[in-house]
Amino acid sequence: MPDDWSRRELVDSLVSAERRVDFVIPLAQLPRLKSSLASSDGEARGRASFRRSLGAAVADIQVQAGPMLTCQRCLQPIEWPVTSDSQVALVADAAEADRVADGLETYLVENDRVSVRDLVEEELLLALPLVPKCAAGSECARSVESGGRRELDRDPPIDVQTPFAQLGELLKRDQ
Ligand SMILES: [Zn+2]
Repeated sequence: MPDDWSRRELVDSLVSAERRVDFVIPLAQLPRLKSSLASSDGEARGRASFRRSLGAAVADIQVQAGPMLTCQRCLQPIEWPVTSDSQVALVADAAEADRVADGLETYLVENDRVSVRDLVEEELLLALPLVPKCAAGSECARSVESGGRRELDRDPPIDVQTPFAQLGELLKRDQ
């Protein structure tokens, strides 16, 4: 079924049936991610598999995407390739999260139900940088490196020295 990824289903049934969902999700269908994107073109592809491991409900999420972000230096769109492969424990509360084995991420499930869309969106959000910037060595990075240094040399002395310069003038007049 093409829309398998959008349905919220009971974690228990997903895990008991060891469901596997191959998905292609348009990024425009990921509302929390959308606000970070320069453009909602593109899609996330991959596979989600559910299983039980040591009593915990676990989702194995493999996802690939190339979301377009906005460089926070030059404000141009940049593609941010994401390839992630995670084991996510589906937990009902914080106490359960504390008992999760090392190496597993945790995802807090609401009302015992989860959708592949929710899980994929979470993975992508985790993979995105807080402040996206063009790569080091790009034209954007080089121009800001030199520009930034010039600004440092120029700006502070004006503010800091003006009061003393005026004081100097006053002292000279008094003598
Ligand atoms: Zn840039």
